[in-house]
Amino acid sequence: MFKTIRDFDVSKKGIFLRLDLNVPIKEGKIKDDSRITAALPTIKFLLDKGCKVVACSHLGRPKGGPSPEFSLSPVAKRLQEYLKENKVLFSSDVVGEDALKKYADLKEGELLLLENVRFEVGETKGDEELAKKFRKFGEVYVTDAFGALHRAHSSVYQTAKLFDVVLAGFLVEKEILYLKEKLANPEKPYFAILGGAKVSDKIPILKNLVEKVDGIAIGGAMAYTFLLAKGQKVGKSLVEPDMTETCLSIMKRAEERKIPFLLPIDHIIAKSIEDTETECSNEVKEDFGGFDIGQKTIENFKKEISKAKTIVWNGPMGVFEKEQFKKGTVEIAKFVAELDAVKIIGGGDSVSAVKVAGVEDKITHISTGGGASLELIAGEKLPGVEILYEKGE
Ligand code: AMP
Repeated sequence: MFKTIRDFDVSKKGIFLRLDLNVPIKEGKIKDDSRITAALPTIKFLLDKGCKVVACSHLGRPKGGPSPEFSLSPVAKRLQEYLKENKVLFSSDVVGEDALKKYADLKEGELLLLENVRFEVGETKGDEELAKKFRKFGEVYVTDAFGALHRAHSSVYQTAKLFDVVLAGFLVEKEILYLKEKLANPEKPYFAILGGAKVSDKIPILKNLVEKVDGIAIGGAMAYTFLLAKGQKVGKSLVEPDMTETCLSIMKRAEERKIPFLLPIDHIIAKSIEDTETECSNEVKEDFGGFDIGQKTIENFKKEISKAKTIVWNGPMGVFEKEQFKKGTVEIAKFVAELDAVKIIGGGDSVSAVKVAGVEDKITHISTGGGASLELIAGEKLPGVEILYEKGE
């Protein structure tokens, strides 16, 4: 098992804290600070224990070194606004003179936020020399950067390897408990709902789930590649023709395992994604695209899902961002929300979809990660998770 910040006496220790503070920033203004507020419980816990906390994060994808638009400086300011009783310092470099000087002067109950770790080109390469520099900050490594745990980046993985004590923060603890532990032994029947744009993004999760679950429902654009593989008309729907063989093999496995594999049986179609003139049809006519699941499909999905005791959902049932194509996603979300089951939503766009339906508080766990959630649900080994288990023994 892994250890959390509750399982080790962190009092007054120097902490190297890897966070995911990758918030959207436009012209120096933070557009959505939910990743910052999500990190606060772990930060507060450590500061209240008198720790000297050196926090770091990536922000965006800067290329080849520092660039002002990717600076974490606005994030440091926002952190100070939330952490009124604790001093927040910011270093203008990642592992340079300013960071080392500020760390040397750091007092108990204070937080130093380092500049964007990706300003160091070694970060995304998993550079070990960079990790040795991070190792100088503190005695205990804490990670709460769930969205980054699938990457073997320097601050995520190599640095953790160098510490004797590696602990999970509250966010990471919850993510691993649900996406890894709970789903390893799900209460049955276990049902998966998958949707979203591309099959290719979801091959590993599909291949894994088809071996484990008691039923799968597929909506979204993804469904059209499966329908195409079955020889059905898909009109102008978004498809990936080179994925049809994979789709056939997944459907074959579902058949061999005798589990229901549900695809749309009717569709909300339109001439284009912008079109507000739509119709519900059993087939996607030529010149039309399918942009949401139809009412018969909704009812069919509900009938199967209603039996489930564990549900994992990733990806919307249609173009939920548009009023005319959001009904399938909203109805399924509301239905899932009311079920007496463990309900896990696997990150990314699915989270916004659940918010559109207004049922967030009825979901057992909503994952904050995109790629990391998908990989963990798919049973893959994530570097940042593996190291927690290794060091936890
Ligand atoms: P993903 O990130 O793979 O979960 O995909 C989410 C995106 O898929 C959302 O932006 C949806 O608008 C889009 N999407 C879902 N269904 C469809 C569809 N039938 N046609 C086109 N885009 C879709």
